[in-house]
This record gives sequence, C-alpha cells and structure tokens, in this order.
Amino acid sequence: MRTLTKDMQNKISPEAAVTLLRDGNARFVNNLKLNRNLLQQVNETSDGQHPFAVIISCMDSRTSAELIFDQGLGDVFSIRIAGNVINEDILGSAEFGCKVVGAKVIVVMGHTGCGAIKGSIANVDLGHLHFITHKVQRCIPSLKAKYPNASENDMCSHVTRENILMGVSDLKSRSSILEEMNYKGEIKIVGALYDISTGIVEFLDA
Ligand SMILES: [Zn+2]
Repeated sequence: MRTLTKDMQNKISPEAAVTLLRDGNARFVNNLKLNRNLLQQVNETSDGQHPFAVIISCMDSRTSAELIFDQGLGDVFSIRIAGNVINEDILGSAEFGCKVVGAKVIVVMGHTGCGAIKGSIANVDLGHLHFITHKVQRCIPSLKAKYPNASENDMCSHVTRENILMGVSDLKSRSSILEEMNYKGEIKIVGALYDISTGIVEFLDA
C-alpha cells in the first residue's frame, strides 16, 4: 500500500473515499490487513500529509479508526471524542481537514455498547461530562416518545444511531464551509456505526 501523495488524494472522489473505507473494514474483519512498512511511511510522510478522510469517532479503546479501516500513516485524520459529539473545536478540525488539506469524506462514527450513550441516557453527571451528555441528550425525548416501550438496550441502540445522524446534521448546519463543500460535491459527510462484537462498520447514509 503506497502512502498517499497530493496527486493520489486529488484523484479520489468522495464516493471512492467511502469505498476505500468500506474495503479497509472488509480487510479488517477478514484479517487480511495490508502489509505496510510503517517506518517507511514515517519517512514518506515527513514532508507533508494528504489524507483522504476525516473520521470523527468515539474515544472508546475498541474503536481505533486506523485499525478498523485498515489504514496507514497519512491516510486519515482521526478525531476522537467521547460519544462522537460535535463541538466548535471539532468543526474547526474537520474544516481544516477538508478545506485546507483536501480530505474527501467526513465520517461520523458511533459504536455499539457506547458508554457515553449509556451515560447520557442515565443522565450521569460528573465534572465536565455534561458538555458531552447534553449534546447526546437532545435526541432522547423524541425517541422516548417514538418508542415508549423500548427496552434499555433498544433505547441505547436508537440513541446511538440518532446521535450519529445528529453529528452529520451538526457538521452541515454549523459549518458553512463544510455545507458548501458538501453541496458542491467536493466532499461527502456520512454516518457510520461500528459493531464492537463483529468489527463490522455499517454506513448509515452513504
Ligand atoms: Zn463510545
């Protein structure tokens, strides 16, 4: 697997960027990861980086983007935060990744068994955690109204999916730069759900 150059990055369409991630995840779940010389990639990326994707995912230790999408050094911007929520700093990071450096897709990736989602449903309040839980909790009242008899697990699943879609929506509605790039077809902004029991990534709206 060659390290991405500016020319290679330019030739990747937003759709192809999603396919690269799908293919990488397929390699991951089939234990067919590419044989990369990471030390060589250190050398090849020393002058700059041309990643094709921005992946906003949870800090969960089981959901490392580079591993589950089988990517090497210089391939993806990996932004990680509990509950894969969007804040101003993450908006700025995603704008930098796409507008300045040229990434072609932004993936907001949640995962099954997410502690931040469970904590938001249980309204855990500790230190600064409310900054995260309040963002997730925006979707809970309407989901409780929609699924009044949902079990705890089912509600967790509903909130996890809705939280991913809210992240996609937040990126478009809160960043005019990303919204315009998305409108012009220069980038795609998609949601994804990672299953911690299978290793499989499901793209929600690609
Ligand atoms: Zn999580």
